[in-house]
Amino acid sequence: MVIKNQEYTVHIIGMTNEGNGVGKIDGFTVFVPLTAVGDKVRVKIVKVCSSYCYARLEEILESSSDRIPIDCDAFSQCGGCVYRHISYESELRLKQQQVQDAFERIGGISTDYLPICGSEKISGYRNKSQYPLAVDIEGKPYAGFYAMRSHRIVPCERCLLLPDQFESIKRKILDFIAENDISIYDEKTGKGLIRHIYLRHAEKTGEIMVVLVCTRKRLPHADRLIEIFSSDPNIASIVINVNEKNTNVILGESCFVLYGKEQICDVLCSNKINISPLSFYQVNRNQAEKLYEIAKDFAGLTGSEILVDLYCGAGTIGLSMAKQVKQLIGVEIIPQAIENAKENAAQNGISNAEFICADAAKATQMLLWRQLSPDVVVVDPPRKGCGESVVRDIVVMKPKKVVMISCNPATAARDCAMFQEQGYCCVKVQPVDLFPRTAHVETVVLLSKLQTKQHIEINLDMDELDLTGAESKASYDEIKSYVKEHTGLTVSSLNIAQVKQKCGIIERENYNKPKSENSSQPKCTPEKEQAIKSALKHFDMLEGD
Ligand code: SAH
Repeated sequence: MVIKNQEYTVHIIGMTNEGNGVGKIDGFTVFVPLTAVGDKVRVKIVKVCSSYCYARLEEILESSSDRIPIDCDAFSQCGGCVYRHISYESELRLKQQQVQDAFERIGGISTDYLPICGSEKISGYRNKSQYPLAVDIEGKPYAGFYAMRSHRIVPCERCLLLPDQFESIKRKILDFIAENDISIYDEKTGKGLIRHIYLRHAEKTGEIMVVLVCTRKRLPHADRLIEIFSSDPNIASIVINVNEKNTNVILGESCFVLYGKEQICDVLCSNKINISPLSFYQVNRNQAEKLYEIAKDFAGLTGSEILVDLYCGAGTIGLSMAKQVKQLIGVEIIPQAIENAKENAAQNGISNAEFICADAAKATQMLLWRQLSPDVVVVDPPRKGCGESVVRDIVVMKPKKVVMISCNPATAARDCAMFQEQGYCCVKVQPVDLFPRTAHVETVVLLSKLQTKQHIEINLDMDELDLTGAESKASYDEIKSYVKEHTGLTVSSLNIAQVKQKCGIIERENYNKPKSENSSQPKCTPEKEQAIKSALKHFDMLEGD
């Protein structure tokens, strides 16, 4: 029995997706923030629930070899980083496992998990910051970040994830606010003018956008603010965003330009990309390029395809592939982002692209009406994923491939499982880290359409089969482990399925079926085929020679 406020010694044996260490006290699960796998720690219990509890770290008795010195005062208080106390290599290991666990446990998916693509920059990589504002006891304005799952503002002088320039810009704005006695918004009373300072940096061109999120359009002494920044050649745009609602959502719907352009321009995958304050743009530009390259590689484009880019934002992904396809259709719900996408196509000389401003679910219905038959659909949904109706509509359009990009492995796994149930095979999964030191990780998945005719035949076979035969003798994981142990080769479930099929061992419904000649499904190499056959023989699933 674990008791609140009591101290215990705990060995940390795992990590949650939020970056909390996991240990056991007499078999009872305890979560301890700021610990690392391999730590032995003294903790104090702060909250007890029915099957787990939370504890506070009191003392590190034995330190994990993953640990590194902490370099930020706000770490543990602000809701940004969760991994500043462990090496980047160990963080990548955890993220790889997190993605794999989500796909296996939530999606029930066994596939090829490619090694995570880490970020070259682990500091200063973020091109965007939104600082909530508050006033201290002396009435002086300060900027900070929200604490985890809270609206308490943690002051932070220098965030290591942000570019150097942001610090001095933020400082100048705070001084401007103080000198001109401009009021800060108070969430409790709903009074006050300025809510957030929002900065964006286009890394390739150097352009910076300054946005003040205000409860009204009119900013007193705006000319003074313009004067402060007009001498800085990198400040390309100053905008007032109006949000008068009492809400957690940071940005309002309308923007007014005070100075310079309506948007800033970056270069991504060799395309000039305009970004408005309300348009989504990946926060880690360099890694976003790698992410889109991987997605393009998974799509395997030849120049003749019709490509649909769902949740396209400012069009970045589709436009990075536009020269390799016949036709591109992008779909996005935010009007300003669609405006950007159209400008972006035009300014890069891309004329085979069309952009539709609509909810993804409605747009897929519309595309079905148009009897569009895309060859490839790329989806890059927000954290909640595509959901059932969008998956269903995509399936009805019968694309040969779906490339899913997702910032939430759990909903990606759920959506991929739905695709699998509806005749798609999850060929490979590639985690990409766009958010070093934070709990977030991006994933790219290739889903490939199974051949319907063969798919149906196999379902019939399944009905007639008694699965106590060869199929049930060894699991895919057992076969993979056997192959790894005996040959050092890593084989995927798809490879095993291909060999089983070839050898006449009936396949499970979800795995791959024999492919036609022109299929783009990756083939199993002769070396791997041989190794899998040996494993099948070992498990008495295949007769020896
Ligand atoms: N693919 C883009 C944007 C990805 S972020 C990029 O890589 O930059 C997800 C995008 O989905 C956001 O632009 C968001 O505005 C959009 N979105 C959110 N809900 C949507 C919906 N229901 N229908 C269409 N787009 C949506």
